[in-house]
Amino acid sequence: ENLVSAYVSDAERDAEVSVRPKRLEEFIAQHRVRDQLDLLLKGAMRRGSPPDHILLSGPPGLGKTTLANIVAAELGSGIRVTSGPAIERSGDLAAILTSLAEGDVLFIDEIHRIARPAEELLYSAMEDFRVDVVVGKGPGATAIPLDVEPFTLVGATTRSGLLTGPMRDRFGFVAHLDFYTPAELEALLRRSARILGVPITDEGAAEIAGRSRGTPRIANRLLRRVRDFAEVRADGVVTLETARSALTVYDVDALGLDRLDRAVLTALVDSFRGGPVGLSTLAVAVGEQPDTVEEVCEPFLVRAGLLARTPRGGWPPRPPGTTWGVRRRMVHLA
Ligand code: ADP
Repeated sequence: ENLVSAYVSDAERDAEVSVRPKRLEEFIAQHRVRDQLDLLLKGAMRRGSPPDHILLSGPPGLGKTTLANIVAAELGSGIRVTSGPAIERSGDLAAILTSLAEGDVLFIDEIHRIARPAEELLYSAMEDFRVDVVVGKGPGATAIPLDVEPFTLVGATTRSGLLTGPMRDRFGFVAHLDFYTPAELEALLRRSARILGVPITDEGAAEIAGRSRGTPRIANRLLRRVRDFAEVRADGVVTLETARSALTVYDVDALGLDRLDRAVLTALVDSFRGGPVGLSTLAVAVGEQPDTVEEVCEPFLVRAGLLARTPRGGWPPRPPGTTWGVRRRMVHLA
């Protein structure tokens, strides 16, 4: 089991529900985004119309799904949840859109992976609250315009750079979620522990926070594992000692690096002499998809100061930003 992966399984989603904040005021940190959303939602409620469409970007596990649910809760609206990959045909999307009730929130996770024809349908729904559904094929095909109730789209993406311009332009509100500081994760852990009824000391919370890669999902997951350890091998209290011992058992290192992070850094240092090296070459070297390396490893390693992205020219020209290097600090660490 990879304890510090930011990705989530269905089973874990269930475990997450109990500690998920329901209202904006319970949402820890991200003060600027919270403040802006608060204004957006209150302004819309005063006017009695749905707020602008909202785009949330940032690495997995930082609270995008949580915020989408909070938006619906604050507005007192219903929420429909789907994802870009789940919408294969524009008909699927048309069915969802035309079944929305007035004021509903439609949450589309991984919106950058939506198929192109569906994306075009989404444009007119976002802009004019109507969709043209094409019936039939060839010269006999007709477009039937259908009304969509006014709704708010909340889109989430780990790769805002992959969104098309027209898509991005249709969001009136765009927010980027950034990694949490250890102090913020400590506050988050104390809140989760309270909800779960787990006694935790400040040092225990700090120890888990420091190994959580700036990511709430990982912090909550590590808390659940440390709690098991504390209950089975100690007196049930999450202290510095139980946290350390438990995380050693689970092979989570002091920086919160996981096997893939370590593989990436080791490959860069050993096989590529500190780089720079292209993303796809590096992904092959560690046996992973380039997407995973880019979406999950890169942001955290860059933020931790262990990896640098070096735009490079040359002939034939490479797309900018495709070569990576390790900072000297890592070379010493390794
Ligand atoms: P994403 O959609 O960005 O992958 P989620 O919204 O599913 O992330 O968040 C993962 C888990 O972390 C949630 O279950 C939630 O309990 C917790 N979480 C995320 N952000 C916060 C926050 N700011 N305050 C409290 N808990 C949070």
